[in-house]
This record gives sequence, structure tokens and C-alpha cells, in this order.
Amino acid sequence: VEAAQKAAAAQQHADGGTPTLFDKIINKQIPANIIYEDDTALAFRDINPQAPVHFLVIPKVRDGLTQLSKATEQQEQLLGHLLIVASKVAKQEGLDQGFRVVINDGRHGSQSVYHLHLHILGGRQLGWPPG
Ligand code: 5GP
Repeated sequence: VEAAQKAAAAQQHADGGTPTLFDKIINKQIPANIIYEDDTALAFRDINPQAPVHFLVIPKVRDGLTQLSKATEQQEQLLGHLLIVASKVAKQEGLDQGFRVVINDGRHGSQSVYHLHLHILGGRQLGWPPG
């Protein structure tokens, strides 16, 4: 895992972007409540939860994945992995009545952090459609 962190630190500029807030969480430069970690993905609790359980799943190496609409075919496996991690951690969090997965993309999607992330929300009845 430590080697993966170093790789993430080395490659975070691969897309020419400045380090995002989430790069700092990956590199443990700013604290976060991390609930799952493997070589390629990290899950941590959202600082401003919109449901009793609200966590984010992110790729450790951003590599151009500032948002879903920038994803390439080469990232297919990584994208699938993020969904598997979302499901695994939802189970770990006891969301046996269901949950929601959201990816905000760009301005109309109200994206605020340009480092791809999945929101997982649960622990209450969620309304539809979202605002
Ligand atoms: P977006 O609006 O880009 O889809 O979602 C960004 C999310 O990141 C928001 O839900 C926001 O609350 C969360 N967030 C922003 N800054 C931090 C932080 O420093 N720590 C954590 N854990 N979450 C953050």
C-alpha cells in the first residue's frame, strides 16, 4: 500500500493538474476518516454528509480522471473496480436496505472536486428525483 501511495504521489501530475484535495487525502497530508483502502482505491466519509451514511470512493491515481466524462477505454477496469469497492463498503457499513451511488459530472452535475469520486449514500429512505 505504501508503494501505491508513492506511485500516486508521483503520478498525480500525469494529467497536468495541480494536486486536488483528494490527492492530499490519498497522501495522508490532510486527515480523513478512511474506511477502506486497497492498491487502487480509497473510501472515506464525506465531511458534509447528506445521509446517515455518506462516503466517497476515489481512484488513488487520478491520471486524467478529473471527472467521469474524461474516462478512457483504458480505465474500464479501474471504473468497474470502483463500483465493486462501493458495493463492498456499503455492505461493510450495514446498508442492507439499499443505498445510492452518485457521480456528479461538471457544472450541471454540481461537481465541486475535480478528482473522480463516487458518492455512496444510505441509512435512510432517499427521495427521487434528486434536486
Ligand atoms: P462533488 O460536489 O464534487 O460531487 O463532491 C465533493 C464532495 O467532497 C462533497 O460532498 C464534499 O462534502 C466532500 N468534501 C469536500 N472537502 C472534503 C474534505 O476535506 N474531506 C472530506 N472527507 N470530504 C470533503
